[in-house]
Formats: sequence, C-alpha cells, structure tokens
Amino acid sequence: MQSITILGATGSIGVSTLDVIARHPDRYRVFALTANSRVEDLAEQCIRFRPEVAVVGSALAASQLSERLKSAGLTTHVDFGEQALCDVASAAACTTVMAAIVGAAGLASTMAAAHAGKKILLANKEALVISGQLFMDAVAASGSILLPIDSEHNAIFQCLPLNYQRQPGNHGIRKIVLTASGGPFLDRDVATLDQVTPEQAIAHPNWSMGRKISVDSATMMNKGLEVIEAHWLFGAAPSQIDVVIHPQSVIHSMVSYADGSVLAQLGNPDMRTPIAHALAYPDRIESGVDSIDLTKIAQLNFRPPDYQRFPCLKLAFDALYAGGSAAAVLNAANEIAVEAFLDRQIGFRRISELIDTVLNRMPAEPVTDLDSVLAKDRSARLLASELLHH
Ligand code: NAD
Ligand code: MG
Repeated sequence: MQSITILGATGSIGVSTLDVIARHPDRYRVFALTANSRVEDLAEQCIRFRPEVAVVGSALAASQLSERLKSAGLTTHVDFGEQALCDVASAAACTTVMAAIVGAAGLASTMAAAHAGKKILLANKEALVISGQLFMDAVAASGSILLPIDSEHNAIFQCLPLNYQRQPGNHGIRKIVLTASGGPFLDRDVATLDQVTPEQAIAHPNWSMGRKISVDSATMMNKGLEVIEAHWLFGAAPSQIDVVIHPQSVIHSMVSYADGSVLAQLGNPDMRTPIAHALAYPDRIESGVDSIDLTKIAQLNFRPPDYQRFPCLKLAFDALYAGGSAAAVLNAANEIAVEAFLDRQIGFRRISELIDTVLNRMPAEPVTDLDSVLAKDRSARLLASELLHH
C-alpha cells in the first residue's frame, strides 16, 4: 500500500492524480493534500479522501479549512506554509510524493522529498530546472526513486532500456526527441502575436492544464524547460536533445538508438496515463484513459521548430549550454513575465524579450549549493519586475 502526499492537489495534475488513486483503493491511500488558496476545493478533496494532514498557503486559509473540516466531522490535521509542505513531503508515514505545485514555489518541498528518500512523481519541472544537479544528487544520495510525470519525459522513460535507472549511461542512445504541439499560435501570423490575449494563450489545442504551463506552451518556453528537464533526468548532453513539432500530440516523445531504431510512446493527451504509469511502476494499472484509434487519427504530422516564432525555446537551449545559474535565471524571469502577461501588464512578445534582457544582465555563474541558486532566483525576479515598468 503506497501512502501518498500530493503537493498541489487542487491543480490540474493534482485532480488527475486523485482520479487515478480513486480507481485503486486497494493500492493507494492519501496521506496529505496541499493547496495554496483554494480552501473549498481542498475541503471537498479532504472529505472524499480523508488525508491525515492538509496544508494551505496562509494562516487565514488554515483556519477556514479547519472550521470546514471540523464541521464535516474530520480529524485531519491542518497546517500552513512552506515548512509544513516540507514536513508532509518527508514524513515517515508517506511513501510517495506527487510534486505538482507550479513554479519555484514547489522547490523546497520537492527537495525535501528527495532528501527523505521518497518515491517522487515529478510534475513540477521548474523545481528541477532551478536546482538541476543539486536535485539529482539529493535523489542519488537518499536512494529516492524518481519518476517523470511530464508526458514527454514519462514517454522517454518508457522508451529507455529497463536497466537504465539502475545503470545510467549511454546504452546506445543517439538522441532524445521531445515532441511539442506548437500550442495555439503555431500557425498564427507572427506579426500579430503581440495582440493575443491571455484567454487565447491558455486555450491549448490538445491538453487541459493550469494557466502558467498553458502560456508556457504558447511561447514554447514549456518545451525549453522540458529540454533542460530531459538533460537532468536522462543525463543527455544538450546536443543530444532534439525538439520536433507534432501538432496532434499523439506521440508523446521518442528515443533514437545507434542501430537506427526509434522507440515512441503513443496515447491520448490525458495526464492520467503518465500518472498511472508512475504510480504503479513497474506494474500497469487502469487509468481511465482509452487507447488511441489510429484509424480515426489518420495522420501524424511533424515539422521543425521555428525560433523566430518561438524565441523562448532558443533562450532555454542557450541557458542549458551556458550552465550554472542560467537555467534558474531563465525560469525566474519567465515566471515573472508570464504572471505579468496573465495580468495584462505586458504583451505576449514582451515575455521573451524580458527573459532575454534578464539573461543578458545576469551572465551564468557556477552554483554549488541551493542558497546560491535561490539568491539568483530572487535577483532575477527583482530585475524582471523592475524591467516590467520600463
Ligand atoms: P495548476 O495551476 O493547475 O495547479 C498548481 C497547484 O499548485 C495548485 O494546487 C495550487 O494550489 C498549488 N500552488 C500554486 N502556487 C503555490 C504556492 N505558492 N505554494 C503552494 N502551492 C501552490 O498547475 P498544473 O497544470 O497542475 O501544473 C503543476 C505542475 O505540473 C507545473 O510545474 C507544470 O509545469 C507541471 N505539468 C503540468 C501538466 C498538466 O497537464 N497540467 C503537464 C506536465 C507538467
Ligand atoms: Mg510536457
């Protein structure tokens, strides 16, 4: 029986995770659920899944949740704040952590799970992009099992040799090929991109996701973060990672081998597939997702990415080549820029310009510990916020 903490339970990934868990009460029980501010959603999840602990973002939210759970007759312990997130991610009573908070806000708790040797289902790609080697070192030192939830990385994981995790190495791998849908603006006139609204940007053609990752998909910064994620997860050199646009999102990614074989994982675009895969690994369980019908899909298309249209993808590759603090700076500037775009403070194309300026003003420096990474994250946020008003 796995005992699960879901960091970010009220989000898109959190809700899909609970959907899979609910199908297998014999295999999984919920130890802790966390949310930032959506108290009512979290209360309903607690009433249904009866966790031992629930964590929210503020003292006010905690007192509201406590009241609500008491009146429903629950004895769930309610806590709040970052230390409480770290506590539920590392608690002895928890075996498995779904890291599904969005952005750098999830870094400390995801790191706590890694230090505590938990089985980690990693959706929070920003945490890995920021902490890179430090996170992978923590996983190796504690003996954590790290399973990717991001659909591309989960697909790659499924296409790698069975002994890959125990013996990382080349294994005859030529290339890791990440597929990208291209998002809602793949065919839009580039000259009109600055007029797009947040509503248009978050209307993803294939996937239903949180707002931040949906904007990242529209700029293709999401793919850029995933290139960096693949580098750390699979020990792939930047030159070994390719991106190909595949608008149908049926092939979730591929591994190309020295003998000319290319292995792909296919499926409907539904995150319950990678979530179920990682929860049950190495078993296979029902996820609620139907198999694809290739005769209905009929066509799969592919094209190379265009850096004019998607400058964020190039910025991410550059940051990966630069190494050191560059990826943390890229991520921090992106988080500020996306928030500003969603708040209608800046236009769509300003997102990449802002990140570019921040990266130029903060050249890559070596980072050896989490404090120095977090200092870079803070400086980049400050600089990006200042630049917003110029
Ligand atoms: P979401 O916005 O739907 O949910 C985010 C969750 O994080 C919510 O539960 C929210 O309460 C919590 N949260 C937000 N800010 C917080 C803070 N400051 N402190 C504590 N908790 C906070 O996001 P999502 O789409 O579920 O994405 C979550 C993560 O998974 C992201 O890193 C995203 O890149 C990754 N991911 C998502 C998908 C997807 O299909 N949604 C696919 C691949 C990867
Ligand atoms: Mg993805």
